[in-house]
Amino acid sequence: MEIVDYLLSIDLNYIVIGLMVIFFSLEQLLNTQFSFKKRGLHMWHAFLFQVVFFIANIFWATFFVFSIEWLNQHEIGLFYLIQLPLWVKLILGVAIIDLVTYWFHRISHLVPVIWRFHRVHHSDTTMDSSTYFRAHPIEVLLWFGSASILSAGIFGLDLIAVGIYFLVATLFQILEHSNLRFPAWLDKTIGLVFTTPNFHKIHHDQDQHYTDSNFADIFILWDRIFGTFKYKPIEQVKFGLEEFDEDKKQTFWYLFRSPFIHIERIEKDGSTKN
Ligand SMILES: [Zn+2]
Ligand SMILES: [Zn+2]
Repeated sequence: MEIVDYLLSIDLNYIVIGLMVIFFSLEQLLNTQFSFKKRGLHMWHAFLFQVVFFIANIFWATFFVFSIEWLNQHEIGLFYLIQLPLWVKLILGVAIIDLVTYWFHRISHLVPVIWRFHRVHHSDTTMDSSTYFRAHPIEVLLWFGSASILSAGIFGLDLIAVGIYFLVATLFQILEHSNLRFPAWLDKTIGLVFTTPNFHKIHHDQDQHYTDSNFADIFILWDRIFGTFKYKPIEQVKFGLEEFDEDKKQTFWYLFRSPFIHIERIEKDGSTKN
């Protein structure tokens, strides 16, 4: 537990910065999976998203810790009604938040007004680890933040469980978006339970049949159980959304305003099947 306590004592922003430095270096050094048309431009707009993400995170983390501590002090949630060993509570806690986040993510693809914010994340035409940060701040603050607070409130999860969830989920998400090659055997082994980078990249395919699949952040099990798991070879994935393909629609400022602009979803004919 000491190592967990130590990790949780570090500001999540520092961990994210550390991970970004590692993955960004790897993406420069190794043979990457996809090449960029305009690398410099992509980096600049990704940087702006990161700055906003960090600022939002500072406000959010304060509110978040306050809310969970309040819930814990009032012993709100199902876990206060039953006796469970701490390690069971922690593992269940991580799994529960991931399950609730899975449903929040599914809803964000289904409900048009939420999709307007979530599509910012899907708009990237060439992905690397920075794509993790490409999310509209309103979505990060109001939508995905509420998934964790709701889980904590219903189940009575404490701050340690939520902290571990964010550590693991952040590592998974940066890995899932990174522009590195991942072998297919990974999908056939740990991919039975966990979301692999190839699975999440299928979620970023332009074809809506695949965009609406593989919603889980950590446990791909949720997609397998609820029938949203889909697979296609990674070489066939075309990233982004057709309606955001133009260069001018890949800028930070356009994407920041885009939820308030009416943009039709361009759908494929759906002829591509599993
Ligand atoms: Zn999505
Ligand atoms: Zn993603």
